Amino acid sequence: MSLKKINNNDKNEGHAAGSLLVVDDDPRVLESITSLLRDHEFSVDSAINGNQACQKLAEGQYRLVLLDLRLPDIQGQEVMAFMDRREIDTAVIVVSGDTSFTAISRALRRGAYDYLRKPYDPDELVATINSVLETQSLEASHQEACSRLQRSEELHRYIVNSSPDIVFMLDRRGHFQFLNRKVETLLGYRVEDLLNRHIRYLIEEQDFGRASWAFNDPTLSAENPRTIELRLKTRGSARGNRHFEITAFPVNTQDSDGTNIPQIYGTARDITERKEAEAFINFQAYHDLLTRLPNRALFKDRLGLGISQAERNGQRLAVMFLDLDRFKVINDTLGHAMGDRLLQAVTQRLQGCLRQGDTLSRFGGDEFTLLLPALRNTDDARKIARKLIGALKTPFKLGEHEVYVGVSIGIAIYPDSATDLEELIQQADIAMYHVKGRGKDGYQFYSAAMSVDTTNRLGLERDLRRALQAGELRVHYQPQVCAHSGECRGVEALVRWEHPSRGLIYPGDFLPLAEETRLIGDLSEWVLATACREIGDWVKTAPPEMKLSVNFSPMQVEHPHFVDLLLQRLEHYDFPPERLEIEITENMIINDLEQISRKLDKLSSYGVHIAIDDFGTGYSSLNYLHRLPIHTLKVDQSFVQAIRQGDEGACIVNAIVAMAHGLQLNIVAEGVETEAQLHYLRDLGCDSIQGFYYGPAQPASELQKALPNGIQKVRSHVV
Ligand code: C2E
Ligand code: MG
Ligand code: MG
Repeated sequence: MSLKKINNNDKNEGHAAGSLLVVDDDPRVLESITSLLRDHEFSVDSAINGNQACQKLAEGQYRLVLLDLRLPDIQGQEVMAFMDRREIDTAVIVVSGDTSFTAISRALRRGAYDYLRKPYDPDELVATINSVLETQSLEASHQEACSRLQRSEELHRYIVNSSPDIVFMLDRRGHFQFLNRKVETLLGYRVEDLLNRHIRYLIEEQDFGRASWAFNDPTLSAENPRTIELRLKTRGSARGNRHFEITAFPVNTQDSDGTNIPQIYGTARDITERKEAEAFINFQAYHDLLTRLPNRALFKDRLGLGISQAERNGQRLAVMFLDLDRFKVINDTLGHAMGDRLLQAVTQRLQGCLRQGDTLSRFGGDEFTLLLPALRNTDDARKIARKLIGALKTPFKLGEHEVYVGVSIGIAIYPDSATDLEELIQQADIAMYHVKGRGKDGYQFYSAAMSVDTTNRLGLERDLRRALQAGELRVHYQPQVCAHSGECRGVEALVRWEHPSRGLIYPGDFLPLAEETRLIGDLSEWVLATACREIGDWVKTAPPEMKLSVNFSPMQVEHPHFVDLLLQRLEHYDFPPERLEIEITENMIINDLEQISRKLDKLSSYGVHIAIDDFGTGYSSLNYLHRLPIHTLKVDQSFVQAIRQGDEGACIVNAIVAMAHGLQLNIVAEGVETEAQLHYLRDLGCDSIQGFYYGPAQPASELQKALPNGIQKVRSHVV
């Protein structure tokens, strides 16, 4: 680039900007330099003293000052000091007769570009000016290049740092050579702390293998980049890992002396939210969101696995079907929000009873299923069932409410009762319904005898609704006989269903369904009404110990107006309360002792007798017996049946009878079938006997035919 040309341009502008300022107190010198320079086509301005020079410098922009050091008013150095203060960066060439070292060095220290002695040689003057202008212009363009570079670097840094992704460079060994600032916001590390560290420092240990496989792939190139999902560790453990999609490929960069450095360029995109959404969707597909338990689908999956494992190892496994008792009542009365909280609390307690490998799942509503894999023996399942039932015994606190729920558990064992997945679940379900039918809150193992054809259940339900209206239900009566005199002391009303196509169906096969569908209320009302109508007069006219026994299911007793409704009905049927004995199971009592004791006290005050049915099979707790107005204990048939086998059941009968005597309770032994049992029980001091030995339940007409006055000795007439 030619300086002259630049100067020409300056000249053409006709303005002080870009021109030279000559400062000298000698007008002749001033004149000669000015004209010399004009001859060389510089645009020139002049000042005759220091103050004028300062003024001109402050007003205009000059490219260069030829400054005489010795001036009449202020010294050349002071002009330079003035320029310094005002930050006027015009180049200065000092012109002076003073050639002392101090003067020169002071001037140069102040920033003068060059120094000319007076008298000056015109060629030297012009050459010096040109050289200074050239240096100045080089400096300017260098500065311009620098600031362009700086701007461009800033732009690139801005682009790289505001990238939504982490951008990084690794050296050949995998150490960070560059990272954008995004790593600070996404992972919490400072860039400085990561530089020269291996990328492994950030990668979750379990992903090492995949990472090194991907980054060391020899086919990797800019055209064939690799994208891999990895978990990166955040700084500190608070935020845990985040998921990234990392794309990387090799690049070559050059260092300052132009040698090639192979590096890996990479970007890491945070995909945590997407991953979490995926995980949530996945979770949702296999879990129940309320309890966070596996759902039906996952349960079946685990059960399938469990079965194949059990088959391989020759082991057993248990499938349990759990259904909460009274949940529907609580849900209806306290609302669904409370119901939800209860389900969560129940889940927690149930889970507390399980081992690591067990799978508890929410099957729907208040139904749960449980898989116990690798069972040593069925007794283990029994223990767990007891534990689960026990875990729900303490009441649940829901806000200011204290509620009790029980659980009915059906158990099916692989391979004893079935080997097929669906069949196992179905059997556990059937067994559970049997528990419900026997007063809930207990457990039972499935047995073939239970096989209510579940495929027929829906049909049954429909039929049962109709049966009530169509008059297909019957009440049969079974005598309770005095063990000593052989006289009839009472009759128990037992419902039957005369199904038009299936024949006589027993309560075990339809009561659970009646409970579930809430038909039980209507059904029970019907039983009581029918019994009062059919044998009410017969009972009333018999001696005073004669009672009518009627079974009540938990759902009925739980009804808040149970007592009042019952008393109203008795009055309506004109049946004296003191001739009625209601049979309830002990599980009903323990679950809500407060409530039930209030109800039973009231009933008892009206003379109604209360019997505990199937005593000994539930969660027997003796401490309620003396707190409640109970008259009769009905020893469950399983203990009676054990007498003939001479096993420990007999001891239980002994214990129950002894205890009942201690509490002055009346005892009825159920399910007495043989004379041996009768004798055994009579010798024990058992009061009454009920069972096939004296005859099954039969229609009222048969009963009345056999016992016209209700007091005859039963044995000779009935059997
Ligand atoms: P439960 O109250 O314990 O009734 C005794 C059951 O034992 C009756 O079965 C009866 O037929 C049976 N049984 C009587 N003697 C013998 C015997 O010597 N050997 C054997 N193996 N069994 C005998 P059922 O009639 O099938 O009733 C089953 C259960 O259904 C009853 O047990 C009772 O809990 C319930 N139930 C029956 N009728 C009604 C009802 O009207 N309302 C309610 N809520 N429940 C009822
Ligand atoms: Mg009964
Ligand atoms: Mg019973």
